[in-house]
Amino acid sequence: MKLALYFKADLENVTDLVPAEDYEWHFKIECGSCHEVDENWISFNRQDEYDMSNSRGQANLVMRCKFCKRESTAQFDPSSKVTSYTDSGKFQKLAVFDVRGLELVDFAPRDTWLAKGTETDTRFDDIDLLEGEWADYDETAGEPVGITNIEVQFKKEK
Ligand SMILES: [Zn+2]
Repeated sequence: MKLALYFKADLENVTDLVPAEDYEWHFKIECGSCHEVDENWISFNRQDEYDMSNSRGQANLVMRCKFCKRESTAQFDPSSKVTSYTDSGKFQKLAVFDVRGLELVDFAPRDTWLAKGTETDTRFDDIDLLEGEWADYDETAGEPVGITNIEVQFKKEK
């Protein structure tokens, strides 16, 4: 099954918000077999791949449900790229995941994200969204910049 992560935030004087290349993505995960949700944030990234125990394939996340012990996997869909967020105030697709035996049910933005000034091309390359918002100052524009009101949702891809 393919699951798309949709992201929404209010961007103030910044655009092209995107996780860094080596970003560690944190999710709440529901088991597709017993439907229990692990209370811990479980993370994976685009670089690391692990062997599945029941096939020759690899995935960015190979985990075993701590309740029913079934193995499940998730990986970044190779046919979709991570997209820069530009559409302030509206949901936009950020990434697509190929999941087997699990569902991603929540996403917690942390660090590090990148963005640039809307009018200035000033680069911000150490944005931390762990607190759910971020504020800085664009010296070139002489204006405050910020990210607030983050929301996420998941939708099944056809
Ligand atoms: Zn389970």
